[in-house]
Amino acid sequence: SSFAHLGFDEQLMKAIRRSEYTQPTPVQAAGVPAALSGRDLIGIARTGSGKTAAFLWPLLVHIMDQKELAPGDGPIGLILAPTRELAQQIYMEAKKFGKVYNIRCVCCYGGGSKWEQSKALEGGAEIVVGTPGRVIDLIKCKATDLKRVTYLVLDEADRMFDMGFEPQVRSICNHVRPDRQALLFSATFPRRVEKLARDALHDPVRVQH
Ligand code: AMP
Repeated sequence: SSFAHLGFDEQLMKAIRRSEYTQPTPVQAAGVPAALSGRDLIGIARTGSGKTAAFLWPLLVHIMDQKELAPGDGPIGLILAPTRELAQQIYMEAKKFGKVYNIRCVCCYGGGSKWEQSKALEGGAEIVVGTPGRVIDLIKCKATDLKRVTYLVLDEADRMFDMGFEPQVRSICNHVRPDRQALLFSATFPRRVEKLARDALHDPVRVQH
């Protein structure tokens, strides 16, 4: 399989070539077409599988399709991750590829300055990457809202649950419009995660690598 099969435009292809990725990883080869088609997705994949790009590239395409349709400042893509480190890694990759389309990203995590994160959100962002507790905090103090979110990613769902974020993750899922696209990634698939997938995803495609 090659990147040409994924149907990205020349701008994004150029950024991918600059990254010196020669071919899609298995998760990308299977996951990207499903995500681009608008389907919900369960990805059983761990770090190193290329899962981040598998959900980010289709998100960029989604944002370019949605931007004019949904005016406003709130995020269109919301990515939840268990830790500050993972949120920052995702954020770096989102910035790297998002810059192709001038897509703005903000990263929100517990332990970071709430004031700085609020300021960044105030400037407007199409993508917010964050840890669940901090995202809820920032919604409560009206620094952001979920009104425009139509693409929701739950990354490392098993670890988010291990860290006690299940109530926050569920609350966020319940407050994002029901017709959103949702993607859940997890290295393992215990019963609790399976239950979340049943509750939050609609007829998901499953990719496993
Ligand atoms: P992830 O599983 O998303 O944490 O990605 C693991 C690493 O693989 C990251 O450093 C990515 O930059 C890199 N990567 C992602 N996709 C590819 C690809 N198609 N070819 C080579 N490296 C990749």
